[in-house]
Amino acid sequence: MKIENYIRDIQGFPKKEILFKDITPLLNDPKARKECLSVLVNSLKGQKIDKVVGAESRGFFFGILLAQELNAGFVPVRKPNKLPYDKISATYELEYGTDSLEMHIDAIKKGDKVLVHDDVLATGGTAKAVCELVEKLGGEIVQCNFLMELTFLNGREKIKENPIFAALTY
Ligand code: AMP
Repeated sequence: MKIENYIRDIQGFPKKEILFKDITPLLNDPKARKECLSVLVNSLKGQKIDKVVGAESRGFFFGILLAQELNAGFVPVRKPNKLPYDKISATYELEYGTDSLEMHIDAIKKGDKVLVHDDVLATGGTAKAVCELVEKLGGEIVQCNFLMELTFLNGREKIKENPIFAALTY
């Protein structure tokens, strides 16, 4: 079972110069999904996790599976104006301009052991913003994990103070 066989490359989506890593074949196959989940869980080597924080929107898929497997809470980090309750926000840089991400103020308690999850680590802007939100609420990041890391974009530099794991690297 090779997880990489379930990642589909789409050249030119959503922009001409991007090679998009499509995870829908992985989501669509229960055996591959299970294998990928166990690779992510095993990387934690039994460390306790109180909350899994998933980044909108593709970080929600395995984020929820991880939370279930680890018997942890799940916290969605969302794009602006999607969350209904009181929230905090963090801004990050895009190619042109900035964007921000939000989290409910009561999603994490001080001292919670947190796993940050997203599907792809690219430039690291998203992961850095998610880490900032967790830290604002006093969470302790145990690991940032990803299905894939695009190493040539060096995103890990932006979150280098945290342990980082990716099931696949490109
Ligand atoms: P970044 O903030 O640059 O690290 O980008 C990470 C976010 O953008 C993740 O939430 C990914 O879902 C998405 N992303 C970036 N690059 C790709 C790619 N080549 N294929 C699929 N998703 C990507």
